[in-house]
Amino acid sequence: MKYLGNKVGNGLALGKVCILNTKIPKLETKKVEDSNKEKEALKNVIESVSKDYETLETTATTNEIRQLCNFYKILLNSKALITSMEEVIDKEKCDKITAITEVMKRKEEELSLVDNDYLKMRSKDIEDVTNKLIRKALGIKEIDLSSLTEDTILVSEEISPSILLANNLDHIKGIVSEIGGKTSHVAILASTLGIPSVFGIKEISKTLTDGEFIYVNGDEGYIETNLTTTKINNIKEKIKKEALLKASLIAMKDKASLTKDNKSLEITANAGELSELDKLLEVNIDGIGLFRTEFLFLNRSIPPTEDYLFSIYKTFAEKLNGKPLIIRTLDIGGDKKCSYIDIKEEKNPFLGYRAIRYCLDNKEFFKVSLRAILRASNYGNVKIMYPMISSLEEIYRANEILDEAKKELADKNIPFDKDIKLGIMVEIPSTAVMADLLIDEVDFFSIGTNDLIQYTVAVDRLNPTVSNLYSFYNPGVIRLIKNTIDAVKDKKDKFVGMCGEMAADPLAIILLVGLGLQEFSVNVSMVLKVKKLISMIDSKEASKIAKHVLTLKTAKEIEQYLDIKAKEIYKEYY
Ligand code: PEP
Ligand code: MG
Repeated sequence: MKYLGNKVGNGLALGKVCILNTKIPKLETKKVEDSNKEKEALKNVIESVSKDYETLETTATTNEIRQLCNFYKILLNSKALITSMEEVIDKEKCDKITAITEVMKRKEEELSLVDNDYLKMRSKDIEDVTNKLIRKALGIKEIDLSSLTEDTILVSEEISPSILLANNLDHIKGIVSEIGGKTSHVAILASTLGIPSVFGIKEISKTLTDGEFIYVNGDEGYIETNLTTTKINNIKEKIKKEALLKASLIAMKDKASLTKDNKSLEITANAGELSELDKLLEVNIDGIGLFRTEFLFLNRSIPPTEDYLFSIYKTFAEKLNGKPLIIRTLDIGGDKKCSYIDIKEEKNPFLGYRAIRYCLDNKEFFKVSLRAILRASNYGNVKIMYPMISSLEEIYRANEILDEAKKELADKNIPFDKDIKLGIMVEIPSTAVMADLLIDEVDFFSIGTNDLIQYTVAVDRLNPTVSNLYSFYNPGVIRLIKNTIDAVKDKKDKFVGMCGEMAADPLAIILLVGLGLQEFSVNVSMVLKVKKLISMIDSKEASKIAKHVLTLKTAKEIEQYLDIKAKEIYKEYY
């Protein structure tokens, strides 16, 4: 049985399920006679938890864990926080748990309202500390992951960062949770620790049983149960090869992005959060092929200001130091909803009021983003990209608004790159079909296969019932990609890239190199792997393979053929 969720990445895992029940039981407020005694007990609890974090901080194996422990420790040592809790005990004559819950809840709410994504993310951490304090106060023993002796997959409704702070996680091979996206703190920690993870599978902690043997595919975002011996052996083989490939990746950091026959390509990253920047620079990316601005708009009660957007874009532009930064204008709607953006409930949101469609109707709102991008272009190699373009008229209209934004800045003598390059996402079939008509209007295309596939084969990308039809290898999809790449081929100073997930697929990469794709924009965790795979591909050989693929008539035949070629090309790594 297969269960689909949100991919957090970090590879593949096999192991026995360990269901964690991290929920704190609902507690009634207790009245106390002696508030001084209760305050003393509160102090002991806080001191004890703070000490636990101090120990974890000194023995932490990664920077992220050290920073998180340090943040928790500082929080717990805050005089104001303890005084507030003591005041609650004095005033309400209540027990320490009530005081902890009340004050920490206030703190969490304060942080969730601030106009800063980093601090907002911290509000989840407050919940984590609160739970730890309560468990300590109740005398509940912490889950001891270091005593595990078998390969284990942690399964929980929600995994808190604290769980991953334990030092000996040797037997934790995978993480599965019902709640949490790939930008949550736990996801970031899981990535730092390299633990394959899938989040967002509804009801999974109630569906699986303790001790059940399951497969976690963090890269594709699913888990599987009821595994046959053949399947287990195949997965084990894959895990072994992944490990081999992983060990060879560090050496790729400082190598140029070249095919085996020295054809230069660009391997860029998809990004959208400041917290990712260090990781991006560490793997020495060739640039950012897709900056998802929507992350800066989601999970807030009011829209971000122009200055706030500008400050983030500027930081990225400066840190990239001349390498390209492709900023996609807001791609909201579909499955990405914002409380302050008025998009009515729609029967088919993916076919509805989304991305550029909303922005073109809300000119002033759109211009805030455009001005922020333009201002940042003064600090690096910034390019603009419009999402969800389906017609030439949309490009014309968006450009008119862009011209207004430019004029507004020029009138105020605010500097920006007057020759800023402009591209569009090719993610709607009409756009891919008429790529030859559109290329003259833009400087680059970036093929968004996540949407292009769903619109081409008419499969909702979030609907697991029809997900078997959603394939990178559908001959119709491949023809649209070829048409898009061909439209750019002989155009001087123009380029074509891909920022959908297909760009990181080992089989598709061979085909894409063969079709002449120039830029591969992938998740940061995949950058070195893609670079390594590309370094093993001969572009002339790949173009022969692509030609043959175009003669095949089904997705299955194409996948099987590419699989044979991948074995020949990637050898022990595949
Ligand atoms: C895509 O559609 O391929 C893409 C990269 O954009 P998103 O996944 O944000 O829709
Ligand atoms: Mg898209």
